[in-house]
Parts: sequence; structure tokens; C-alpha cells
Amino acid sequence: MKYTKEDIVRMVNEEDIEFIRLQFTDIFGQLKNVAVTKSQIEKVVNNQIMIDGSSIEGFTRIHESDQYLHPDLSTFAVLPWMPAKRKTARLICNVYNPDGTPFIGDPRYVLKHTLDRAAKLGYTFNVGPEMEFFLFETDEKGLPTTRTADAASYFDMAPIDHGGDVRREICLMLEEMGFEIEASHHEVAEGQHEIDFKYADALTAADNISTFRMAVKTIAQSHGLHATFMPKPVFGINGSGMHVNMSLSKDGKNIFFDPEGEKGLSKEAYSFIAGVLEHVRSFAAITNPLVNSYKRLVPGYEAPCYLAWSASNRSALIRIPAARGQSTRVELRCPDPACNPYLALAVCLAAGLDGMERGLTPPAEITENIFTMTEKERKAHGIASLPGNLLEAVDLLEQDKVIVDTLGDHVFESYTAGKRAEWDEYRTRVTDWERQRYMIVY
Ligand code: GLU
Ligand code: MG
Repeated sequence: MKYTKEDIVRMVNEEDIEFIRLQFTDIFGQLKNVAVTKSQIEKVVNNQIMIDGSSIEGFTRIHESDQYLHPDLSTFAVLPWMPAKRKTARLICNVYNPDGTPFIGDPRYVLKHTLDRAAKLGYTFNVGPEMEFFLFETDEKGLPTTRTADAASYFDMAPIDHGGDVRREICLMLEEMGFEIEASHHEVAEGQHEIDFKYADALTAADNISTFRMAVKTIAQSHGLHATFMPKPVFGINGSGMHVNMSLSKDGKNIFFDPEGEKGLSKEAYSFIAGVLEHVRSFAAITNPLVNSYKRLVPGYEAPCYLAWSASNRSALIRIPAARGQSTRVELRCPDPACNPYLALAVCLAAGLDGMERGLTPPAEITENIFTMTEKERKAHGIASLPGNLLEAVDLLEQDKVIVDTLGDHVFESYTAGKRAEWDEYRTRVTDWERQRYMIVY
């Protein structure tokens, strides 16, 4: 919804809104906010609210710490889980430097900048994410466990599904915030759920992913449960993905659709797929950001590990769902819901555009189940693998100029430094697995 400054001031006054949360995300995708009362509303709409960027992960150094929040007025929404009297609304903000230029370390800026590149070619990038998550019980201190009383599986319903009520409330509240919920169901693993909302332009989609995570966590907590978007919380069962369905439109028309093209796909769609396949190994550090992300990307749990595309086969990294016409889309199955959605959508787009600019063609479609192929068979088909761990992913990221340029120096440097530190912290830990495996034998 497009709002003017005056609309915002009027809504705040007329709708009993007392608090306004000004939100933005750090480079690792954590949602941050500063709350002000309505006494500050003029300052809010005139971009005068300041933050100390030096305290935000990956933002600025101490000597250049003042930054300004420029709210995107179209993101104004009342938070439905907050008290109904003296309500709380939020605005998602862009981060600016004191001299009035956009801050290049703001992930929302990175995405906007990449979308501008597409816009220059006349393209709108549309994205529909499929968000998966777990609901776990909490212990007596309120801390998360990995226990779930729920023994349900794919599409099961109550009373086997114990998360139905929470999902229902999440859907209702998100609808109050303007989301169009397309599907909500129990996922394959015990305690695992999925909620899908309607696709949108990529900036709105990234804002929605961020809002979604906050809503799910908050509403689960009010039911005494802990919601997690950690990609693989439990060994031996499915992890949580965030498949992204992507398309480009020009003058309102989906350019991935071509009724004359092979499988109803345009040349642009094939080049986009080829570009994603070319860069996915190096942007995995963004779409799959955690040490834990790589424990999901293993055979046997419906998560992808091998670089291939297919019009049907769910074992492939890229799938083309059956719908054609305006709904024609490319589904990338590796991203997980712990990623920074702004950076993740920016690198996916940059990869696809690179494929289109260079007129790349993808390798042949793989119709067989890749998980049951031997390594030799995969080699014969020329099928490569996603990185096996975060370190490999960061190493690959550093070598890919298209992806590094998309992130910009600031984000690239802070992000990779943070991820190398995370890897170092992990690799020096001694785990239960090691003790079980080695202590008696050695
Ligand atoms: N949970 C699976 C994953 O890790 C995906 C299941 C599905 O196909 O929806 O990507
Ligand atoms: Mg799913």
C-alpha cells in the first residue's frame, strides 16, 4: 500500500497507535528495531530517527556510528499480537548515512540496488518463498528443547498434528497484516510445519520473510512453544528449507513463459537457470548461512545436494513447477530460512541476470532420482555438488566476482569475516559424536 507522510500521521492518531517500531536488519538477517512513542511521529516520517550503527552486527565502526532510519512508508502495519489498546505499529526502514546517502552495508539497500539493475532492463523480480520451521516444547525455564508431542507427518491433521492451533493463529494474524496465505500444513518431520504466502516483488517478499519469522516466533511463544528456523535442528529427520519460487516480469508479463519454447519455457528462463547453476556454489554461503545449514544439504531428506535442474524431479536443486502462463517459475530448493532474505534474493537475482546477459544455456534436464545415482553416474552426467560445509562455501564465495560485486565491499567483508569466525568457533569444539566414536576405541 502506498502511504504519504500525512497518511501515516493520521493513522497513528486515529487508530490509537501509541508505539512505532522502526525496523531494519543487520547483515546476518537479524531483525532489529527501535521503538518510539507517537510523540515522535513527525521525526519518524521525516527520516530524523537516529541509531548507533557501531552496535549493529556488520554495520559501521565506532567513529562513524551515527545513522538515520528512513522508513519505507508502504510497510506501515499494526502488529496484531500486541495489545489492542494503545497499539504498536511497525515501519521497515532503509539505513542512511548522516550525509543523506544510503548506507551500503544495509542489506535492504543491497537488494534494492540489485533490483534497480533488473529494473533498468525493464524487469520486475517476483519471489514466492516456502517457509518451513519447527515447533518445539520449552523446558521449565522457558528454554527450547527438541521435544515435540507431535507425531504427525506430511499433511496430517489434528489430533495427531499438535501445531494446528498455532498455525491457525499465525495465518490469521499475518492476514491482518496484509499477507495472503496460500497454504499451511504439517511438514514431513515431527513438529515441522510449512506456511506459504503469495509471491510478491522481491523487496516486499524479503520484508515478508522477515516479518513472517518474527510473527511465527512470537505467536509460538505465546503458546508456550519455541519456533525455530534453524535449518537442521534434529539429526535423522528432515530439515527446514526455504524454497524460493522466482520469475521475472516485463510490462506485467511473465517472461519465463513461452508457449512455443521447450517445456513452455523461454530462452530467458533457460539462461536464468544456467546463471543460477553457475553461481549457486558460491552464493550458498548467503542462502545457506550457518554451520548447521550444511547438515541439511545431505542425501535422504528431500533437501538438494547436487547441481541439476528438472521439470518435475524433487531431487534436483532447481525444479520447474508444472504451472505455466503467469505462474511460470523457477524453484530453487537450497536456500534455508535462516538466511538474510535481502542478501539471498539479491544474489539469486544477480546469478540469474548474469546467465541472461551472457546468454548461457543450462545442461540437460535430469529426470532420474539423483540421490540413488552412484558418484560415477553423477560424474558421467557432469553433476557437481553444493559445498559440503560453511568453510568451503565462504572460500567459493570469495572467488566469485559477480556475487562479491552484488554484495558490495562492505557487506562482503563483514559477512565473510563473521562467517570465518563462526567456522573457527565450530571447528575447535569437541562434540558428543567425537566422544562416542573415539573415547572407547582409542
Ligand atoms: N524439508 C525439505 C527441505 O529441506 C523440503 C520438503 C518439501 O519438498 O517441501 O528442503
Ligand atoms: Mg515443504
